[in-house]
Amino acid sequence: MGQSFNLQGVLQSFRVLASPRLMIPNLVVRDVRDINFEQLHKAGITAIAFDKDNCLTRPYGLEIYPPFKDAWRRCRETYKDRVVIVSNSAGTPDDRDDHQAKAIESSLQVHVLRHQEKKPSGGEELLKHFNGVDPTEIAFVGDRALTDVVFGNNEGMLTILTRDVVTEEGDNPMAIRIRRMEHRVLALLDRLNIKRPPHPIPIDLHAVVLQAPAAVTSEIKEEAKEGSA
Ligand SMILES: [Mg+2]
Repeated sequence: MGQSFNLQGVLQSFRVLASPRLMIPNLVVRDVRDINFEQLHKAGITAIAFDKDNCLTRPYGLEIYPPFKDAWRRCRETYKDRVVIVSNSAGTPDDRDDHQAKAIESSLQVHVLRHQEKKPSGGEELLKHFNGVDPTEIAFVGDRALTDVVFGNNEGMLTILTRDVVTEEGDNPMAIRIRRMEHRVLALLDRLNIKRPPHPIPIDLHAVVLQAPAAVTSEIKEEAKEGSA
C-alpha cells in the first residue's frame, strides 16, 4: 500500500522556498500525548484535524498506536464531531472504494475526510467539512512540515507538529528522508530567528502542552550543545 506521486506537494514546495515561514508550526510537541485538548478547546480552538500516518497510527496502519489510546479518547471526548482525519493515503483517490478510510473510521471512531487534493493542497476541502468554522479556530496536527504544517498554515489554522514519529519502520523511504530534512530546515530557521507570526487567537502555548514544550527538533538541542561547547 502506498501513495501516488504528489505533484501538488512538489509545486507547493516552491511556494515554501519563497516564504519559508509557511513550514513553521505554531507549536511543536513530542507526540499527540503532549496536547492538552481540554485547554486547547477552552482557548478557542473549536475544531481539530489530524494527519494519520506516524501521527496517530503506524505508517499505513489502520489502528491507533496503542500508547496514544488515552490521548485519543481525551481528544474525541473534548471535540466530539469536530475532529477529523486528513490523510494523504486514506480517503484520497488512491484509496480504492474508500476501503482504508472506512476501516479507519470504524477503528478510530472519527470521520476520515474524502478529498481529491493531497496535502499541502486542498485546505478548502477541510474548511468545507467544518462548514463555517473560522479557520483560525481549527488546529491541524501532523508530523510533516512540508505537507501537514504548510496545509494548515496556508489556511490560517493553528498548526501543531508532532516531532517524534511512531516509527520509521514500514514508512515510505522518501518520506523518511524528507522528514529528516524538514527537521534540519526547521532547526536552521530557528537559528536564524525566523518565526511564525503569532496566531490571531491569543493562546498560551505552554498551557496547551501537558509536558514541557519541546524544542523544534532533537537536532536543535544537539546543535545548541555543539554551539555552547
Ligand atoms: Mg504523517
